[in-house]
Amino acid sequence: MSMADTFVLFGATGDLARRMLFPSLYFLHAEGFLADNVRIFATARSPRTDEEFRAAVADWVCERADGAESNVVASFVARISYLSIDVTTPEGYDELAAAIRADGGGQEVVFYLSTSPSIFGAVCKGLKDHGLSDAPHRIVVEKPIGYDLKTNIEINDTVAQSFSEERTFRIDHYLGKETVQNLIALRFGNRIFEPLWNAETIKSVQITIGETLGVGDRGGYYDEYGAMRDMMQNHLLQLLCLVAMEPPSSLSADAIRNEKVKVLRSLAPITGQNVESKTIRGQYTEGFAPDGEKAKSYKGDTGLEDSQTETYVAVAAEVMNWRWAGVPFYLETGKRMAERKTHIVIAFRPVPHSIFGSEADENELHIVLQPEERITLQIMNKRPGISAQGMPLEELPLNLSLVERNKGTRRRIAYEQLILDALTNNPSLFVQRDEQEAAWRWIDGIAAAWGERNVQPKAYKSGAPGPSAKHVLTERNGHSWYE
Ligand code: NAP
Repeated sequence: MSMADTFVLFGATGDLARRMLFPSLYFLHAEGFLADNVRIFATARSPRTDEEFRAAVADWVCERADGAESNVVASFVARISYLSIDVTTPEGYDELAAAIRADGGGQEVVFYLSTSPSIFGAVCKGLKDHGLSDAPHRIVVEKPIGYDLKTNIEINDTVAQSFSEERTFRIDHYLGKETVQNLIALRFGNRIFEPLWNAETIKSVQITIGETLGVGDRGGYYDEYGAMRDMMQNHLLQLLCLVAMEPPSSLSADAIRNEKVKVLRSLAPITGQNVESKTIRGQYTEGFAPDGEKAKSYKGDTGLEDSQTETYVAVAAEVMNWRWAGVPFYLETGKRMAERKTHIVIAFRPVPHSIFGSEADENELHIVLQPEERITLQIMNKRPGISAQGMPLEELPLNLSLVERNKGTRRRIAYEQLILDALTNNPSLFVQRDEQEAAWRWIDGIAAAWGERNVQPKAYKSGAPGPSAKHVLTERNGHSWYE
C-alpha cells in the first residue's frame, strides 16, 4: 500500500480542523498508520509561527486523546509546518509550493479543503497555476458542495478544472463511521439477510438523525440551508443508499458508488401534487434541553424573527425499483430533538398467519449509530411462565452490542478512516459527482414543491421528538415512528 508523502490542510485554524482533523491525524500517527515521511502543512490566514501552531495542535489533541503520551504528541506535531496564506490572493502559493517540494517532498500530495466552498475555486486555481494539481496529487473537499443542483455543478466544475474526478474526494463523514461500514458487512457478508431484503418481507425503513443541540453560532449558514440541505441531501440519503442498494460486484469504489447512484436515481420525485402528504417541515420553539436547561427558540438563537427555515424535516421516500416498490423509507432529521440518536430501523412484515392471536409478531432490525453503536434484531419469544390464555409472546432483542465487542478499544473519529483512505488513494467511502447530482435533483424537487404549495415549518418545542404532525406521515400507511 503506497501512501502520499504530504498532507496539506487549508483551514487549519478552523473548528473542524481543531475538533476532528488534527485529532484524527494524531491517532493515525500514534497507531502507526502514517508512514515516517508524511509531512503535514497547515495553512490559514492568521499569522502563527511553527512553534505557536504546534503548541496549539498539541492542546487540541490532548483535549481529545485522554492520556496521550507527551513524546507521541511531540513526534506528531514535529510533522507539522504552518504557513500563513490568504488563498484568495496568488502570493502565498509560491511559498507553499516551495515548502512542499523542499528536500524532495511533495511527490504525492493530498490537499484537504476545510474551508468555506466559496474559496474552493481560488485554491484549485492557485494549485493548478503552481503545478500542484497534476496526478497523483488529489483533493479532499468538505460539505456543503453547493446549495442546490446548479451551485453543486458550478463548484464541481471549478474543482474539475484542476483535479480529475478520480482525484476528487468528496467527504460525507457519515461514511467514515464504523457502524455505517458495518451495514455493508451486515448486508453483504451474511447470507441470511439478502433473501429477506425486499418489499416482500420488509414493511418500512426508518432512518433518523436526531440532534439535541440547536444551531449554536452557525445561524447565518444554517438559515440559508435548513435541515433538508444540511443533513437530508447528504447523510440521510447516503444511509438510505447503503440500505437500499443492490449487492455490488466488489468492494471497489466504482462498484459501490455505481450501485448507490442507481438508488438515488430511483427515488420517486416529490412534487406539488404530493409534497404535503410526503414531507413535514418543522422549526423549534422555546423548550428544554435534555439536561433540563431552558432552550431558546430557533428565532431566539439566530435573532431571525421572520425565518421560515426548517430545523426539522421528515420525508416518506420511495425507491422505485423491483426490490423496494411500495416500501416507505421514512427519513427524519432535526435539531433540538428529544434525543441525540442516529438509527436505522428495518421493520419486517408480520407473519402471514398468526397462530398466537397477538398483534406484535413482527421483527425489527435496529442499527444504532449514535449514541452507542449497536445492532439488534427484535425476535418474538414466548413470555416465560404459564398462561390460561394461549401462548403470550414478547419481543426480545438479539443483541450485537458493538459497545461490548469493542470494550477497551477507543471509539474512533469518522475522519480517521477517511483521511487514511485519502492518503492511500482509496475513494470507496467518498461521494462521486453523479451521486451528488442525483441527490440534489431530488432535494431541489422537494424545495420547489414547498415553494409552490407554500409549505411552512410547523412549530415543535425544543426537547420534543419533532412536530406532532410527523405522525400523519407514517399513520397514513398504518405505520408509526420508532422513537
Ligand atoms: P471555520 O471554523 O470557519 O474555519 C475556516 C478556516 O478557513 C479557518 O481556518 C480560516 O482561517 C480559513 N480561511 C478562511 N478564509 C481563508 C482565506 N481566504 N485564506 C486562507 N484560509 C482561510 O470553518 P469550519 O467549521 O472549520 O468548517 C470548514 C469546512 O468544513 C466548511 O466547509 C464547513 O461547512 C465544513 N464542515 C464543518 C463541520 C464542523 O463540524 N465544523 C462539519 C462538517 C463540515 P483564518 O481565518 O485564519 O484564515
